[in-house]
Amino acid sequence: MGMMDPFREAALLLKRSRYTTAFTGAGISVESGIPPFRGEGGLWSKYDPKTLDLQYFLEDPTGSWRVIKEIFYDFFDTAKPNKAHQVLARMEQEGMLGCTITQNIDYLHQEAGSRVVYEFHGNTKSLRCLHCNRAYKPGQMSLDHFPPTCRECGGVLKPDFVFFGESIPQIPLGAAYEAASLSDVFLIIGTTGEVMPANQIPVMAKQYGAKIIEVNPEPSNYTLHITDIFLQGKATEVMEKLEGQLFSAALDNDENGVD
Ligand code: NAD
Repeated sequence: MGMMDPFREAALLLKRSRYTTAFTGAGISVESGIPPFRGEGGLWSKYDPKTLDLQYFLEDPTGSWRVIKEIFYDFFDTAKPNKAHQVLARMEQEGMLGCTITQNIDYLHQEAGSRVVYEFHGNTKSLRCLHCNRAYKPGQMSLDHFPPTCRECGGVLKPDFVFFGESIPQIPLGAAYEAASLSDVFLIIGTTGEVMPANQIPVMAKQYGAKIIEVNPEPSNYTLHITDIFLQGKATEVMEKLEGQLFSAALDNDENGVD
C-alpha cells in the first residue's frame, strides 16, 4: 500500500469500508465564500471571539448580536454548497457514506443533498427565546434592531448554535459517539481540530480502529497524530479527484485483487 497513489489508497479504503463517517469543519465551506475562524483571512483577525461566548451574550446581547449578524446572517444566505459538499452528498446517496458530522452551522451539507447530517454546533436557521424557548426563523424577525426579542414574552432571542461555554446538544453528541465507535473510515475535511469537545470525535474513532483520511491544504492537529492518509489540498479539488477514483471502474479491478 505504501507506494500507492494516496487518492487510490483512500478510494480503496472507502470502497471496502462497511461504515464511513465524514467529519467536517469550517474549511469545507471556505470555497463557498464563508471564512473560517482561524488562519489566513479567518474571522478572528477581524472579530473578538469573546462575542460568541455565552456569558458575554447574556451580559451584552446587543453587542454580541452586532457581530453575530455580520458574521452569520449577512452573507450565509447567499453561500452555495461547493463540489466538496456535493461529493459527500453523492457518496451518501450511493451508500458509501453513513453520516456527516459537521461543526459548521451554515446548512450547506443539507443544501447539497446530504440527509444524515448531525450538526454538532447547532445551526443559524432558528432563533430561540431565552425566556420561553419559543423558536423563530431568522426571516420572520427583523435583525435591524438589536437584540431581536420574542413576540410572546419579550425575551431575548439567541441563535440556535452552540456558543463557547455551552454544551453540545444531546442528539448530535450521541450520534457522533456512535459513529466514532462503528466507523471503519473517518473522513476529516477542513478542520484544525482545536475546538473542544468536537476535536475528540476523530480521536475516539481512531481508538476504536477507524482509518483516518484527512483533507486540508495545511497540516492540522490531527495530521501527525492520527491521520493515516493525508490528502493535502483544497476541499473542492481533493474531493473532485477522490470522486473520480471512487466511481472509476479501474478501482473495481483492484478490489478484486488485481493489484
Ligand atoms: P477553523 O476555522 O478552526 O479551521 C479551518 C480549517 O480549514 C483549517 O485547518 C484550514 O487549514 C482549513 N482550510 C482552509 N481552507 C480550506 C479549503 N479550501 N479546503 C479545506 N480546508 C481548508 O475551523 P474549525 O476547525 O471548523 O473550527 C471552528 C469552529 O467555528 C467550528 O466549530 C465551526 O462550527 C465554526 N465555524 C463555522 C463556519 C461555518 O459554518 N461555515 C465558519 C466559521 C467557523
